Amino acid sequence: MSDAILKAWHRAKVAAIEGAVFRLLASASRQSDRTLIWLTHLLERVPRTEFQRQQLRQLRHLFEHKHPAIETARRAFTQLHPNYQRRLISNLFVGATWLGEATRREFAEREGFRPPYLLAISPTMHCNLRCIGCYAGGYPWQDYLSFETLDRLLTEAKEMGMRFFVVTGGEPFVRKDLFDLYEKHNDCSFLIYTNGTLITDQRIEQMVKLGNIGPAISLEGFKQETDTRRGEGVFDKIMESMDRLREAGVLFGFSGTVTRHNVDAFTHPDFIDLMIEKGCLFGWMFIYIPIGRNPDLELRPTPEQRDRMRRWSLGVRRSKPIFVADFWNDGCLTGGCMSGGTLYCHINYRGDIEPCVFMQFKSHNLVELYQQGKTLKDALNSPLFQRVRCINRQDENKLRPCPIIDHNEWLAEVIQETGAQPSYPGAETIITDLAEGVREWAHEYAKLADRAWNSGEYDFFKDPLNWATTYDDPEALKQFRKPDKSDQAAA
Ligand code: SF4
Repeated sequence: MSDAILKAWHRAKVAAIEGAVFRLLASASRQSDRTLIWLTHLLERVPRTEFQRQQLRQLRHLFEHKHPAIETARRAFTQLHPNYQRRLISNLFVGATWLGEATRREFAEREGFRPPYLLAISPTMHCNLRCIGCYAGGYPWQDYLSFETLDRLLTEAKEMGMRFFVVTGGEPFVRKDLFDLYEKHNDCSFLIYTNGTLITDQRIEQMVKLGNIGPAISLEGFKQETDTRRGEGVFDKIMESMDRLREAGVLFGFSGTVTRHNVDAFTHPDFIDLMIEKGCLFGWMFIYIPIGRNPDLELRPTPEQRDRMRRWSLGVRRSKPIFVADFWNDGCLTGGCMSGGTLYCHINYRGDIEPCVFMQFKSHNLVELYQQGKTLKDALNSPLFQRVRCINRQDENKLRPCPIIDHNEWLAEVIQETGAQPSYPGAETIITDLAEGVREWAHEYAKLADRAWNSGEYDFFKDPLNWATTYDDPEALKQFRKPDKSDQAAA
């Protein structure tokens, strides 16, 4: 078959997949659960890989068990502007997850290691707010990644199979040229961490036109907690921005950093109900990590409070029409730590390529790599990233996955072995001055996490066949498969 015919066939197939997924999700807002279940059976014949079929089975499982996720899909398909509905399906579900997976596998076969699923990028550290304890404060603000570097980076990342990018900082909305980037790469999805105070009507108009930008607005709980950390009047501004985003049909959510002082606010039943009422379709939770300008061990939630947040996110997913995930306590959703290019890595405002937003060490700089005629690939395959990938999934308990806060000694070893440098003066304190306090805390939390992991609640995630990160490697799948009747017959 000629190249042209192959390409045309591929395009037709992609269009068919997109159309089918679009019909499935769009119909979620009006069809009965039985029809939706039937549709998943039909769709299961479309994908090429076992991994993708597994995802459809998981979707069916949700429909069959009347999971609130169906309600979230219904909300999305009644609330979102059609541009968002289309981009969500073609960029995120089909592009980043399904087609991207095929490209990532080809890359892995060629290069000997898997590229990540997504990149987190901080194009600038400039911010219009001065929040207490924010890690952005550890950086000078005058430098930023140029448009050309970002453009080249996205182009390169797409060739590796990545179509999903997290834009953080700093406050990304201080840079107007980033909208040109989102437009130029309109086959990608962008999750933007923002303080929510610079979302003008003009920005909302641009977002609706593009349909590929999802703001995650940071708050600290209710008005009192948010204004105390972020500044007077910030909470009201956020509420007002959320109203305008919802009315315009923009996909957006919230993000929260849990400290010792705001756990009660986040876990109060009124909080999540308020976020749903405001129109949030997702929420990302983080816990305070002692890095940045003035790292403060006392700001961290206690081990009991962290455990409470774990139970909270589990409970919200089981009962509310919103998708909420916790960056640390939901390690089971991603098969463990995502750092070092396992599923993601971070590029800071200067181009330093860090294994994780919170693991602020580097061995390569993107701008320098480009000057030397090299690429992102060289950093992903560096000893630092290779070593991080070796250690970051060693703990079977996916409720304490983190080399920074749960296994701090592993991180210290990797940094020492590879000679990686702190990204800014003081970033090393997490493995030096603060290490003892971090490790004691980890020791206490481990007792709670082990109890939860062994409680039976997480058994679904102990079967690697069920992990979202189980790829379609026939040999790997074979060793994980539980013996069934066909195995007995074969024996
Ligand atoms: S290093 Fe820690 S914070 Fe970073 S991805 Fe891994 S578990 Fe998450």
